[in-house]
This record gives sequence, structure tokens and C-alpha cells, in this order.
Amino acid sequence: MSATKRVYLDHAATTPVRPEVMDAMLPIFQEHFGNPSSFYHRGQEAKRLLEDARQRIATCIQAQAHEIYFTSCGTESDNWAIKGVARALEKKGRHIITSKIEHHAVLHSCEALAAQGYEITYLDVDADGRVDPQAVRQAIRPDTILVSIMMANNEIGTIQPIAEIGAICQEHKVTFHSDAVQAAGAIPIDVSTLPVDLLSFSGHKLYAPKGVGALYIRRGTRIATFMDGGAQERNRRGGTENVPYIVGFAKAFELAMAEMAENTKHLSALRDDLIEKVLKAVPHTRLNGHLTERLPNNVNFSFEFIEGESILIMLDHFGFECSSGSACTSGSLDPSHVLLAIGLPHEKAHGSLRVTFGKSSEAEDIDRLVESLVKIVSRLRDISPLYEAYLKEKQG
Ligand code: PLP
Repeated sequence: MSATKRVYLDHAATTPVRPEVMDAMLPIFQEHFGNPSSFYHRGQEAKRLLEDARQRIATCIQAQAHEIYFTSCGTESDNWAIKGVARALEKKGRHIITSKIEHHAVLHSCEALAAQGYEITYLDVDADGRVDPQAVRQAIRPDTILVSIMMANNEIGTIQPIAEIGAICQEHKVTFHSDAVQAAGAIPIDVSTLPVDLLSFSGHKLYAPKGVGALYIRRGTRIATFMDGGAQERNRRGGTENVPYIVGFAKAFELAMAEMAENTKHLSALRDDLIEKVLKAVPHTRLNGHLTERLPNNVNFSFEFIEGESILIMLDHFGFECSSGSACTSGSLDPSHVLLAIGLPHEKAHGSLRVTFGKSSEAEDIDRLVESLVKIVSRLRDISPLYEAYLKEKQG
């Protein structure tokens, strides 16, 4: 019997490091391993690699190199943005606006601030997961110091109207942060026209390694230091820089920008094919997230009457590696806060499946995935008391 082909369809959770990125990083581990803070040649060589990477990442988003700060991950960037602005502006006010569908790195940072006396407004989203810019306008108060709305959602792929929200923040002179971890490399980001003050990035979502991230801080933005230590990162984030990963991150970001048009075409064709086929083949199924304002690689379904966890286990058996939501919450049995926020009742939020395509995804995998899903959903519904109750009610 031939082994089941393994198909990785969880690129929103993480991506493999691409070969070009490995090639860019490898010599730095053993040859150019100097500490960028050392004055001698090897250190200065590492410093040059670091600053070159900073410039290249800045170019990807039309920023200035000195506006890019390296961090250890997207979570750190979100923490720094939110807690750093809160601390720097605490005398001005203690009110922060965010949305109900942010990543936990943002939500839990806000909760930590709430425990210190900050007031947080969690904006609702519509049934597609979009924040209404006018709701941001209405929520702004004289003591509002920060608005944090993600660029694209990690579970349902919905892209937010960031330009409009940013313009409202600018009008009211409120600092605006956006978590761009899922958006980076997938959709264009141009800070020369986009009214944002802070953007969070993470390497491992765009084929660089885990453990490297960045925070874009627009020049003039008031933000406190997050990591006390040495003078690295213009005295704002102590800690010896992870030069190999930072160089890998720059390479991966550049490649993503260069290949964006081609990737979007490839990924959105797979996405749309899967959506169409599954909605046709599996009754009582809902597509979560916006139909068009959506990341090119994201599909998120709710299958009524069954549990997402069971679907995942059976899909794994068929060779498909998918997710029921964000990687950080899978393993918890609570339904996704994102699906609840778009209005799904608990039982529907439990039956969700996220498929996120990537560079290696192939059209031929779609039909096998659809076939597998048809079998899995039907088997699970056969043993579902909810489905049985539904059928009984239907028969009267
Ligand atoms: N923000 C979003 C939207 C994410 O999807 C993730 C990762 O899943 C993060 C932040 C956290 O990034 P990291 O894993 O680099 O800490």
C-alpha cells in the first residue's frame, strides 16, 4: 500500500523556509557570525549585513530604514506597539480602541493594560469580519491614545479598510497600529501613502524562519522602549540582533514582493476553486470571511452539526494538514473568538476548518481534498446527535 501523500495546507500558521532564504542565511552562522556591536572588522561586517537587511525591508513597504526595528516575532511587535504607545502617552489618555477579531498578541496586550487601569473599546465587526471605519470615528474620545486594527485576519482572511481607518485616526491625531503579520508579502503595503504609524511583521509567515519579526515605527511616533538592555535598535530594543534570521527575513520579504502578482494568481485560483467545489458538494456549509476583501490563500468553512477538531483529525488521516482556526488557539476547546464575533452561534463556530494555501500547493490536491471532506463530513454527521435532531425536526 502506498503511503498517503502529505499535503500541508496551514500556511497561515507557519511556512517552510525557502531555499533562497536558507542560502542567504547559512554563511552568516559560521562565517559572518560577528556581533554587530563589535568594532572590529567581523563585527562591522555583521553590522553592514544588518543595516542592508533593514534597508531592504524598508524598501518593501516604502519606509525609511531607520523606521524598521527588528524584534523576535510578531507577538513581540504587537506587544511593543500597544504597551509602548500606552506607556509613552499615559499622561495624554488611557483609552485604546481595537476590534474583537484581533490576534491574541493584541487582545492579551490590551487586557494586560486594562488590568493597569486603561480602558479598552473592542469594536464589533460585521458578518464578513470587517470593521466599520465610522465605528472607529464614533469610538474616538479626547483621551484615546491608540487604535489597533489588523490589516488581515489570520483565521478568516478578511482584509480591513486600513486606509480609511488610518485617515480617521490621522484626522483625530490618534496613533494607529496595524498588525500586518498575515498581510505582509500577500498584499501591497505602502507606508508612503497609507496613514499608519506602526505595523507588526513576522518572518515565519512569509518563508523566513520562526523567531524574527519587525515593527515599523513611523518617524515621530511616540513609543516607549519595550526591551531594556544595550543600545541596539537605536536604543529602543536591547538584545544582540539575530543577524542570520534578519537577513533571511529581508530575502523572504523581497521575494514575496517580487512574486506577489504571480502568487496571488496561483493562490486565489486554488482558493476560489476550493470554495466553489466545497459549497457545491457539502450541504449546510458556510464560507466565513469576506468573499472578495480576503487574503488570496485563505479559505474558512463552517460545517454545521459537527466538530472542527474531528474534521482535522480525519483530514490528517487522509494526509491533509489544516487548522480549525489560529494555531495558537487550536488545542483549546473554546470556539474561535473571531467566528463568534462574526455572529456564528457556538455550535457553528465549533465546526470550522481553515485551509491556507502556499507556494507548494497544487491544483490536483483540491479534488482529493474535496472528496475527503465529503466523506468526512458525511461520516461525522451520521454520528452527530445535532444532525439527527435536525433531520427529525425536518421530517416533522
Ligand atoms: N498576528 C497575527 C495576525 C498572526 O497571525 C500571528 C501568528 O499567528 C501573530 C500576530 C504572531 O506572530 P508570531 O508567531 O511571529 O509571534
